[in-house]
Amino acid sequence: MTVTAPPGYAAIVTAAGRGTRAGGGEPKQWRDLAGRSILARSLDAFAGFDRVVLVVHPDDMARAIRDFAGGVTIVTGGDTRAASVMAGLHALEGQATHVLIHDGARPLVGDAVIQGVIDALQGGAPAAAPALPVSDALWKGAGGAVTGTTPRDGLFRAQTPQGFALDQISNAHRLHPHDAADDVELALKAGIPVAITPGSEDNLKITFPADFARAERILGTAMDIRLGNGYDVHAFGPGNHVWLCGVQIAHEAGLVGHSDADVGMHALTDAIYGALAEGDIGRHFPPSDPQWKGADSAIFLAHAADLARERGFTFGNADVTLICEMPKIGPHAQAMQARLAQIMGVDASRISVKATTSERLGFTGRREGIAAIATAALIKA
Ligand code: MG
Repeated sequence: MTVTAPPGYAAIVTAAGRGTRAGGGEPKQWRDLAGRSILARSLDAFAGFDRVVLVVHPDDMARAIRDFAGGVTIVTGGDTRAASVMAGLHALEGQATHVLIHDGARPLVGDAVIQGVIDALQGGAPAAAPALPVSDALWKGAGGAVTGTTPRDGLFRAQTPQGFALDQISNAHRLHPHDAADDVELALKAGIPVAITPGSEDNLKITFPADFARAERILGTAMDIRLGNGYDVHAFGPGNHVWLCGVQIAHEAGLVGHSDADVGMHALTDAIYGALAEGDIGRHFPPSDPQWKGADSAIFLAHAADLARERGFTFGNADVTLICEMPKIGPHAQAMQARLAQIMGVDASRISVKATTSERLGFTGRREGIAAIATAALIKA
């Protein structure tokens, strides 16, 4: 999800610093954080804005164009943070009514923080910025010892994005062209009142090497939840038993298929492949390959389950519905759940097997075959 900004709202993402305190040799905003650069993540947060200006160091221009051209306006920054913000503001002249200025080294800014700033501006505040109240005691210290305390009442830790009416913050920068810690400081100097909006502990500024580990932990808590569905049909043919969800059931007919024709297990296997966007059974075990003739379908289900685990997923649950008039499934449902759970390596309480007739309608109603549908939920925490 990204915030959809009102018309006239623009964002400036500053990334012109050379900050190497975070280690790694290259400026921190270009470093990888769980598979994407910090800057890409920071920019993602503003994908719902009409205009986004990225301010980069001249040395990073080629790289910025390679990574981000098309979606954002890229300009080069100055020697100071204030100069870089001014370059961004200049690019927006006449193009927007409001601007949110964000530090490119805060890749985990959430929708709620951005929305809070927008809501305050929409509500009439000329400027708004997120912050968190200081909760720790504050000390003064020297030589490794506490020399005094400072009351924390009324103290806040400032975050970004900081939002302003574009003309007002542009004027403030022109009036006070000296470097300031942030744009709020400039706004106050220019007499613009700034509303405080809710910040977030996750909206950390990547500064030191340990911040990467913390950011990765925060990203890791965002769960990847996948759902997949599967559907399969097999026709009745000669025989005296059927295999359903890994259980052999005596029946007046068999099911026709290349493997053991376990229609329930096939549907479930396809649901898992589906959740992984990995095609279906036919792709992994081509029916043209004679080695799968008469195969125990447990091979297929075990393969899909292993693939899910290899990708870092665990099973939330799976639900299989068999659609047939006969045989009766109820007496076997518990054994089926236990067998599927065993093959998948999960607790049986996570696996459901149930059945329905189709009221004698259609091919299942005419007892020409059995259909099965299945859903699987995979979770990567
Ligand atoms: Mg099948």
